[in-house]
Amino acid sequence: MKKSRNFAVKMRIDILTVMPELLDSPFGHSILKRAAMKGVAEICVHNLRDFSDDKHRRTDDYAFGGRAGMVMTVQPIDAAIAHLKAQRTYDEIIYTSPDGELFAQKAANRLSLLNNIIILCGHYKGVDQRVREHLITKEYSIGDYVLTGGELPAAVMVDCIVRLLPGAMSDETSALTDSFQDGLLSPPVYTRPAEYNGWKVPDILMGGNERQINEWNENAAYERTALLRPDLLEEQTLKNTSQSS
Ligand code: SAM
Repeated sequence: MKKSRNFAVKMRIDILTVMPELLDSPFGHSILKRAAMKGVAEICVHNLRDFSDDKHRRTDDYAFGGRAGMVMTVQPIDAAIAHLKAQRTYDEIIYTSPDGELFAQKAANRLSLLNNIIILCGHYKGVDQRVREHLITKEYSIGDYVLTGGELPAAVMVDCIVRLLPGAMSDETSALTDSFQDGLLSPPVYTRPAEYNGWKVPDILMGGNERQINEWNENAAYERTALLRPDLLEEQTLKNTSQSS
């Protein structure tokens, strides 16, 4: 049976960071702001410094072994997670990290079915390894490059997840016809005017025949994927082969 969310409960995402101000802008606009205002998702950003036992509210220290760069200490992260876990059960406690699993649409789909998640943003050289071993349940990377902190990865992940929640977008089916949802890239899209500078919209899209338009979209999606991302088609073929054997 397909797992589905309990839609009576809105999704709650808690983000732990030492730089909460970096998230003001991404969460203060567009779909994320609308989703929060409509009560589709509750996104709470927590400053890890508020959980530090240190009199200067420090959250990092020198690395053992003399390696360059500071390391985020266990104590404030442990205290913040314990504080949140005392209030509700969390389905996943995520750490954003360049060596985590690559965050792709499939992961966003899976996370959008959960009720409560925590996302921990790293900084400096990252977090003390013991956090990852004892407190984190999943690690995601947003790509093979290194950013200064986990706030942008967290914002990317939250945007991807929240736009999938029912009620987040004005047209609920729109997110389901985007690239990657069915293993293909999205077909090209056009809007008015039907002709600009002699550049014309394909005739079929103007014709109003739903069957032909669907067929055109399917073919265009397939051709585009074959041209730009043939690896997606190979993945699909492998999946079909293993399912049929
Ligand atoms: N020393 C770490 C390494 O080499 O893997 C990089 C640390 S990075 C400067 C600081 C933080 O930014 C990381 O702990 C992580 O939270 C976040 N970060 C950087 N690049 C990321 C990526 N591609 N995906 C997810 N998080 C990333």
